[in-house]
Amino acid sequence: MLHRTIHLFRKELRLHDNPVLLAALESSEALYPVYILDRAFLTSSMHIGALRWHFLLQSLEDLHKNLGQLGSCLLVIQGEYEAVLRDHIQKWNITQVTLDAEMEPFYKEMEANIQRLGAEMGFEVLSLVSHSLYDTQRILDLNGGSPPLTYKRFLHILSLLGDPEVPVRNLTAEDFQKEGLSSCLPGLEKKLRVKDVLCLALCEEKRCRAPDLGLAECYRVPLPVDLKISPQNVSPWRGGETEGLQRLEQHLTDQGWVASFTKPRTIPNSLLPSTTGLSPYFSMGCLSVRTFFYRLSNIYAQAKNHSLPPVSLQGQLLWREFFYTVASATPNFTQMAGNPICLQICWYKDTEGLHKWKMAQTGFPWIDAIMTQLRQEGWIHHLARHAVACFLTRGDLWISWEEGMKVFEELLLDADYSINAGNWMWLSASAFFHQYTRIFCPVRFGKRTDPQGNYIRKYLPILKNFPSKYIYEPWTASEEEQKQAGCIIGQDYPFPMVNHKEASDHNLQLMKQVREEQHRTAQLTRDDADDPMEIKVKCDHSEENISKGKVA
Ligand code: FAD
Repeated sequence: MLHRTIHLFRKELRLHDNPVLLAALESSEALYPVYILDRAFLTSSMHIGALRWHFLLQSLEDLHKNLGQLGSCLLVIQGEYEAVLRDHIQKWNITQVTLDAEMEPFYKEMEANIQRLGAEMGFEVLSLVSHSLYDTQRILDLNGGSPPLTYKRFLHILSLLGDPEVPVRNLTAEDFQKEGLSSCLPGLEKKLRVKDVLCLALCEEKRCRAPDLGLAECYRVPLPVDLKISPQNVSPWRGGETEGLQRLEQHLTDQGWVASFTKPRTIPNSLLPSTTGLSPYFSMGCLSVRTFFYRLSNIYAQAKNHSLPPVSLQGQLLWREFFYTVASATPNFTQMAGNPICLQICWYKDTEGLHKWKMAQTGFPWIDAIMTQLRQEGWIHHLARHAVACFLTRGDLWISWEEGMKVFEELLLDADYSINAGNWMWLSASAFFHQYTRIFCPVRFGKRTDPQGNYIRKYLPILKNFPSKYIYEPWTASEEEQKQAGCIIGQDYPFPMVNHKEASDHNLQLMKQVREEQHRTAQLTRDDADDPMEIKVKCDHSEENISKGKVA
């Protein structure tokens, strides 16, 4: 028997490699592609900020357009997801709900609620994994039920598992227009444009919430203004599968770059991303990680030599997979309390310090430029994330990684439950990473790859007239030089909020103490080869500092 199906898009906002949508099409006589825009759910579970709202709406608009080209459309329904489903399951006589399987606790809870609703209302539920390379449960099973806590161990388990699932084929107009399938809304006729179909079918609806607005209004992708999202906070990065695929293709044409990609050699303060910049598209599922993985495999197969994990491009995807796996089996992964893999640290409660960091007012141009790029664009390079995360936590301010993670969650286009928390634990040396004597210097770190300070001049134009020798530490310029640069430190731009040398020396001692106290209780994993940024290319702290346990 063929189903009448609601396909519920959650994260996988794409038509390529979408196995559960393909399964829905193959098993249905009527298919309703639906996105439920549940604002309360999105804001409470993901703390989604303005930039990401824009990116999400652009991605939905793009999905709607792409579905339209295949003879279907996207129906966006605003409201609380359970109430919306109850309503439409009855209205459309639904017998099946299909959805992407996700691993975040809030998405798992949503799926469990839909399963419960299915048992109550008599519809079937089908969910399939396609946001990660593997079904993380398979990795956990092979590792005896617990997550591998080092990358090395993780790679070993993957070697037992074999290659990830290959991507499923792209969806075509034939899939949506096959004999007997009505896709989108009842009454769909192939010749009708999607807009006409919407109007036609919606005329049958009696319970549209805003009948006087015109019925097609009910299901359209809302505009930012409808959601009261500031039109000013738009990132230059455009959301959607079309844009994501274009960027992916662009990178893949440079096969030499792909084959030799070595993460530590990429530059945190280049004016255009020195890495792929695909993370926002993976994060929202506009791009399939499996598609990218196999496209990389093809390039590697043709190359004479290619880089390897952890520093290669496939190695980056495996870091993503690593954090997904650990997060899927670690209670309270996004917090310190009750998290068995996280050091328990008495961080300072410093609201003012946190605010200065968040608002790019630390007085360290390198840190403030990064936080400005983050606020304006929603994306920063991995090493730039290192710099500001280390500064906030174990480096200078001794403020909890949870606070930094929340700020990133709000501001990043690629904000991701598992990767964000995992990397914050890493950078604060609360889990995974243990070479805590390496503290990034907020003056020297950026200088290495951008001695002229062009990145700072772009994001902090107030400092743009300082000579290069002062751009990373403008407080060392004389009063006269500050006047000439048109920026008086302490007046037009703040003095450094801490003395880096004193603060980091002090914090290093605190960290040593914590680790001595907890070395028996905390599940401290050790694998020094695991630091992807330390392989081949040294980070900011020189070897003599590391061996002396000192910081710059
Ligand atoms: P590339 O270097 O081109 O890598 C390709 C893909 O591999 C990325 O798109 C991403 O999906 C994955 N990847 C790369 N590095 C990592 C990593 N260290 N861990 C896991 N996956 C990785 N990444 C997110 O996607 N979401 C987050 O919320 C996030 N928060 C972070 C917080 C901190 C404190 C730090 C230090 C890093 C965080 N990262 C996060 C990881 C990393 O910085 C970004 O994935 C990367 O910079 C994205 O740029 P890219 O797409 O050009 O990466």
